[in-house]
Amino acid sequence: MTDFASTRAAFHLPEGVTYLDGNSLGPMPHAAKARVAAMMQDEWSEMLITGWNKAGWYTQPRRVGDRIARLIGAGPGQVVMGDTLSIKVFQAVSAARALRPDRRVILSDNGNFPSDLYVAEGLARAVGAELRVVAPEEVEAAIDDHLAVLMITEVDYRTGRRHDMRSLTARAHDAGALTVWDLAHSAGAVDVDLTGADADFAVGCTYKYLNGGPGAPAFIWVHPRHGDAAQPILQGWMGHKSPFAFDLGYAPAPGIERMRVGTPPVIAMTALDAALDVWDDVNLSDLRARSVELTEAFIARVEAACPDLTLHSPRDPERRGSQVGFRHPQGYAVMQALIANGVIGDFRAPDVLRFGFAPLYNDLDDVERAVDTLSRILRDESWNNEQFHKQAAVT
Ligand SMILES: *Cc1c(COP(=O)(O)O)cnc(C)c1O
Repeated sequence: MTDFASTRAAFHLPEGVTYLDGNSLGPMPHAAKARVAAMMQDEWSEMLITGWNKAGWYTQPRRVGDRIARLIGAGPGQVVMGDTLSIKVFQAVSAARALRPDRRVILSDNGNFPSDLYVAEGLARAVGAELRVVAPEEVEAAIDDHLAVLMITEVDYRTGRRHDMRSLTARAHDAGALTVWDLAHSAGAVDVDLTGADADFAVGCTYKYLNGGPGAPAFIWVHPRHGDAAQPILQGWMGHKSPFAFDLGYAPAPGIERMRVGTPPVIAMTALDAALDVWDDVNLSDLRARSVELTEAFIARVEAACPDLTLHSPRDPERRGSQVGFRHPQGYAVMQALIANGVIGDFRAPDVLRFGFAPLYNDLDDVERAVDTLSRILRDESWNNEQFHKQAAVT
């Protein structure tokens, strides 16, 4: 059994705060702070440029990728780190679409995160493809033999709705299409099994449930059957087969290495590498069971104590990720009041209060404190104070 009391102790959780926003930015693992300080002192300071070889900075994107692979049902040598998730979405969708050159359609749903849709829209314009966006429950029916790429975010960032990766992938393959799965709200939150689902491409970020810190690099996975056929459009020198030959023409590195673009963010990846230590003793079935326990308890208690809120997530835990949304007409002000009272969740327009539950450090006490505070704020209407209505840049 995974010892969640010991994983919780691995994080710095500020005094007096109940943190339910690890689905936006995970808290800092103590190990990350120490590891980055040591890297600055022993590697950057002392080794200078030789750190690329001596400290292994050059191969870090693959080493860290292998650690993520275990958490998403991928094999060693199949995942590489770098850039931001938006860029990795572009890399994956462009490569997938190039493998189906006779087909025009990229299909996604309107529960997807806007950046994924913006990137696909720009790509479609550039390569003469068409982005089709349907409601989440209409995705399956919209798969036909014009489809080149099915681009889906497994867990909806607003509602927590979880798509069935296995069955949608099978449907897409039956129609002759390829799949790109965005795991931004899945990796470290649910029991992902890319190999079992027979997916084609996957991408994700590492600053949410993987706790890599603000701006931590993204990951990309390509099924080995496409490894040497997939051609990235962003042909950077670090994805070249011999970057230090400085050839004028591009020739892709074998396998996943070709998905690299430019110089990796070594300091940020060092923090991420340290943040991944905590996962060494975590069993993904335990993680999922704990996540379901927390979200079920939260929904039951909120519904009993806060009649003004409406559940905005699937009730069936099988169809839900590790977050819960509730709607309130004045959701923004309610969330600001909640934050002022030490319970941190976030708000997503137009009216959704969003609460992320990260089994590594959230427990049933967090659930209880959050619901007590929320019901008090709603009962005494203290949220309806002018200070809670002022909109900040980041919600
Ligand atoms: C968080 C998130 C992003 C953010 O992309 P960045 O490039 O890291 O800013 C993109 N897509 C999805 C589905 C997300 O949840």
